[in-house]
This record gives sequence, C-alpha cells and structure tokens, in this order.
Amino acid sequence: MTQRTGDTAPVIATTNPYDDDHLREECAVFGIYGHAEAGAHTALGLHALQHRGQEAAGIVTYDEPQFNAHRGLGLVGEIFADGRVIARLKGQSAVGHTRYSTTGAPLLRNVQPLFAEFEFGGLAIAHNGNLTNARILRSEMIRRGSLFQSTTDTEIFNHLIASGRGGILERFIAALRRVEGAYSLIALTKDALIGVRDPRGVRPLQLGRLGDSWILASESCAFDIIGAAFVRDIEPGELVVIDKTGLHSHFPFPRIKPRFCIFEFIYFARPDSVVEGTSVYDARKRIGMELARESPVDADVIIPVPDSGVPAALGYAQQSGIPFELGIIRNHYVGRTFIEPTDEIRHLGVKLKHNANSAYIKGKRVVLVDDSIVRGTTSKKIVEMVRNAGATEVHMRVSSPPTTNSCFYGVDTPERDKLLAARLDLEGIRAAIGADSVAYLSIDGLYRAVGENGRNADQPQYCDACFSGEYPIALTDQMNSEDPPQLSLLKELGR
Ligand code: SF4
Repeated sequence: MTQRTGDTAPVIATTNPYDDDHLREECAVFGIYGHAEAGAHTALGLHALQHRGQEAAGIVTYDEPQFNAHRGLGLVGEIFADGRVIARLKGQSAVGHTRYSTTGAPLLRNVQPLFAEFEFGGLAIAHNGNLTNARILRSEMIRRGSLFQSTTDTEIFNHLIASGRGGILERFIAALRRVEGAYSLIALTKDALIGVRDPRGVRPLQLGRLGDSWILASESCAFDIIGAAFVRDIEPGELVVIDKTGLHSHFPFPRIKPRFCIFEFIYFARPDSVVEGTSVYDARKRIGMELARESPVDADVIIPVPDSGVPAALGYAQQSGIPFELGIIRNHYVGRTFIEPTDEIRHLGVKLKHNANSAYIKGKRVVLVDDSIVRGTTSKKIVEMVRNAGATEVHMRVSSPPTTNSCFYGVDTPERDKLLAARLDLEGIRAAIGADSVAYLSIDGLYRAVGENGRNADQPQYCDACFSGEYPIALTDQMNSEDPPQLSLLKELGR
C-alpha cells in the first residue's frame, strides 16, 4: 500500500472555477432530408449532441425557394426555446451544428452552419474536426483575393468550392482533395444533403432513418431522441449524397487505414451512443475492468468522478469486487458563467460543481476513478475534497493513458506544457494532485477494452496521438509554423 508522503506538491493553478479540466470536443453536426419538420428535428438532434459543444449552435433549412437560418450563442435549448424561431425554420431538409469555441469570446459570425451563395445556388455547411493545413490554404486564398467573413477553418471549404469548376459534387470533391485534417461534414444545397468523413475517419458521422427521411449525425444518441433508427457509420473517406432519388455513396479518395479517435470511447461520445459498432457504455466499463486488472488497490470503496468517470468506475468495481458508491455528487445546474468568477467564488472552486457524499467516504480507503487528467486542476481539488470528507486513503485511477500531447484534429487541448503528464512523471503527478497513489490505464489495455488484442505499434488501429504523440495526419500548419513551442513539439516528433 502506498503511503502518502509529506513532500511539497508541484503547483497547479486554475483561473476558472467552472472549468472541470477535460479535453473538449469542439463540435457536433446533424442533418435531415425529406421530413416535414426538419427544423424542429434538427433542434432536437442538436440537443442530444449538446455534450460535444455548449457555446453556440445554428440551423439552416431549405424551404423552396429559400434558405432559412437561425444561429445563436449559448445552449441549444436556449437558442431554439422560442417556438417562433422553430416555426420560421420551415422546410423539408436541414443542417445543424453545435460548437465549443476555444479562444476568447465566441463570435456570432463563426457560428455554423456557414452559408454562402454560389453559381449553383446556396450552400450551408457544418463541420466537426479541424483542418491541419487551414492556415496555409487561407493565406493562399487571401493573397488571391478571397474575403473571409469568419475565423473558422470551415469557411475554407466555401472558398475552395467557389473557385472550383463543374457541378456541386465535382467542386465539393475537388475542395476535399485540397484539405488535410479531420472532418466530418454535412452540407445542404437546395437539392441535396451531403455528408462526408475524412479518409482516416477521425471524427464520427452516422446514418439514420426516420420513415422515408435520411438523417446524418455525429452520434447515434441524436437518432434516439427523434425516434429514428441507426443504419450505419458513414465509412472513412465516404461521401454520401441524399436527394429525391435516394442515397448515393461515393469514395473519392484512395482507401487508407482508418484512425478513428480513441478518445471518443473514453470521454467525448455519450455513453448511450454506439460508435464504430461499439457501445460507448460497454467500452467504458471494459476500460474500468482493464484498469482494475492492471492497477488493483486494497480499498473499501470505488467512487467515480461524475459524470464521465461513472461507467469506468462500475467496471473497476465489478472486476475488483470492491463496492461502488456515488461518493461525489455533481450539481448539474452550474453553468460555465452563471456568476462572474470573483476571488471569493474562485476560492470555492470545485465545490460549485461537486460535493462529497461524506457518509460513504468517512473512514474509508477510497479509489477515485476519473477518465483523464489534463492539467490536474480538478483532480487536485477532488482529492482534497474526499480527504476532507474523512477518507483515510485516496487512490486515483485514470481510465486513459497519460495525456501527454495536444490534439490538432478538432479537440480543444491545452498547450503541451500545460498537460500535467507531459511535465511530470507518475510520482510527480501523485504529489501534484495529493493522492496516495496514481495509476493510468496502459495504451494496450485501452486497445483491449475497445476490442483489439492490443495496439499494433506498426499500424495503430486508432488515432491515439494525445497519448502516443504519433499523429496520423500531417500537421502541415504546425510544421510551417514559426511559433517556438510548436516547432519544439515537431522536433520531438522527429518531423
Ligand atoms: Fe482523439 Fe487524441 Fe487523436 Fe485528438 S489526438 S483525435 S483527442 S485520439
């Protein structure tokens, strides 16, 4: 049993008391074709996908002969609460987007779906992911006279499509051939709904059916809310066109090995979703079981850090035979900004969101299960809270490998030097968060939990770059960056 040492913990600071210190999925997309209530169904679909982005959302519908749009800052339920807004979103086809913005104040002009008029008519586009050559393409286009109206990389598609030749499909495919990075896109024209996943299939995109209507969505939980049936995942590199003649599938790129984001199983996707043929809830429980096998603890109680740690903690408890209890209760009604964070509020820190259920902690040796440690700010406060509630020992078990690298494929991660596991070894992390012991899931354990025999070192089956530092898609902008931290990252990666 590890004893708590009295050494001085490395300082980890937070500035935002509402920050629960997780990686953040930046977007979700939803589209529907051939339904009388396309706008309302899109609002419901986005509501189910709210966990993928909470700062802004928008919907564009097509109601011949015009497109209707509504975009706003805030939660889906707030933006589309007024029935008059939905009533104005008439039409039988729609595309929607919900977004988490990473820097500064979110700008309304960045809220998707972006809409533009082209030679062939209007086009609304919604994007989940991140283009890794966006800066270079954007500079090139600005030099040639393109006028950008937003700061999102998604607008690059519009300019590439505008300068292309042929019909919409030819232009769309030509544009996709110019971009690099991760993208799951849905576009709406007057005649069709188009969905496409990048050749590696890093971000999810799925197909559903509701009566005669086709639906595209980031995750299957968006089909459930409107009573639609899940049909299948859109394949990596697949482009589907849905129009009045039905669904047509194209594969415009050479087939390459898919590298789906493995973090979707750990944290991003909703546990009631099925992605890439795997129940997210089941995967998380198996992750917890692997963790218990790899890093057992002699303890009295397993407590999840809610909500994302719950399925893995259940798996850990089942495997270890140690009782599972909800020893931390989360307040679900704390917004990110409901009170201006004064120094006094800052001092309350994690208590705004979490409270110890002391009766299940006092006098107990506690295993805390969380899905990841990013900067370590929340972990430190949770450990302290559990200790203050009377735990005799606090052991942290993390249901992912150490997060040591930033994501460049559409997930908000701090700079690498802010990631606790990039700065400190295991003992340093233990001291920083004040736990008696810390253990992470191994990368092979993670692969086993999602149904593989382990990680294939020559050709990894998933994107796991935030753990391994092996980026499956070229980081073209970073490689051409003069920003010293990024250059040092690439030097480390040997590129
Ligand atoms: Fe997912 Fe991590 Fe890859 Fe980003 S770097 S796509 S978070 S596995």
